[in-house]
Amino acid sequence: MGSENAAFDADTDRDAAVAVVGGGPAGCSAGVYTARAGLETVLFDRGPSSLRRCASLENYLGFPAIDPETFLALARDHADTAGCRIEDDLIESVTALEGGGFRLEPQESDPVTARFVIAATKYDGSYLRGLDEDAMFVAEGADDADERFDRDYPDADGRTPVDGLYVAGPLAGCGDQAIIAAGHGASVARTLLRELREDEGYWGRFATHYDWRRKAENRRDEWADPERWVELFEGAAADDREPETVRRLAETYAADRDAAYVDSATATERAERGQRRLAAALDDDVLLEAVDDEAIRERAVALERSGSAADR
Ligand SMILES: Cc1cc2nc3c(=O)[nH]c(=O)nc-3n(C[C@H](O)[C@H](O)[C@H](O)COP(=O)(O)OP(=O)(O)OC[C@H]3O[C@@H](n4cnc5c(N)ncnc54)[C@H](O)[C@@H]3O)c2cc1C
Repeated sequence: MGSENAAFDADTDRDAAVAVVGGGPAGCSAGVYTARAGLETVLFDRGPSSLRRCASLENYLGFPAIDPETFLALARDHADTAGCRIEDDLIESVTALEGGGFRLEPQESDPVTARFVIAATKYDGSYLRGLDEDAMFVAEGADDADERFDRDYPDADGRTPVDGLYVAGPLAGCGDQAIIAAGHGASVARTLLRELREDEGYWGRFATHYDWRRKAENRRDEWADPERWVELFEGAAADDREPETVRRLAETYAADRDAAYVDSATATERAERGQRRLAAALDDDVLLEAVDDEAIRERAVALERSGSAADR
């Protein structure tokens, strides 16, 4: 184990760009955004969970009713598919590293270093104590005997006075509802991504991160030409900007945007893959009940035929 104030080390396999603490709606949602944006993301999840106390989740758009375990399994599967490395471990402490970044101490596994931390643990912020103890906790309870994480410590976008530390979900004072926590997790991750892009030199609307997939048939030729973007960037850039930098940023922006177009075959294939993952989360009996009997019969006959053919 390294010293507590060791420098951030981007080369070890226990390192990540982003460490998300908490795998509820807020944390999984944040992790989906950071991982899909290409940031190596590790997500820790163990300990007190709010959603697991809910008997039946009935007001999350798209799910008229869903049991929290199935919902959380889907959320976790989504984070995993997006590229998060998920560790079933509880973070006991987070400390700042010299020169930026953090060191996280899990209960069971080896420490992890990360450039950014997103804390998404509704009930507990005590593991953050080492970062800014005096400012981030407020007294509560009889005679102010207890302390809790101050939900006003982060701003509305989840930023905190500690560089690289973000807070998402009800712990950051957003509404205490699963769908709002998920939306806030996404919003906090997008704030982080925006700030990274600003560090790269993007400004204004060009700094906003878009995780969209666009229809290839809507791709307009004039915007497929990177020069069009270079002109747009040059027109919007402040006078003191280096022209080469503006050109480089515009070309990268144009390439990223072009890569967001997806043809209909690819879109269909991805949607089918998504449906399979949804179906895998469903109870077999419920799934079979929902399928037309004739379709089940046809499928059974086809399976039998292919089995007989394979036996010959
Ligand atoms: C009884 C009850 C019923 C509810 N019913 C509804 C409802 O019907 N509809 C609705 O929208 N909302 C409901 N809620 C609110 C909803 O559960 C929360 O708003 C939402 O779950 C908050 O999401 P979160 O990700 O911030 O926190 P959580 O859901 O609490 O997720 C945090 C995750 O972090 C993990 N964790 C905690 N500490 C650590 C640590 N130190 N290291 C690693 N991992 C950690 C936990 O295991 C947990 O999985 C209910 C809440 C309760 C208590």
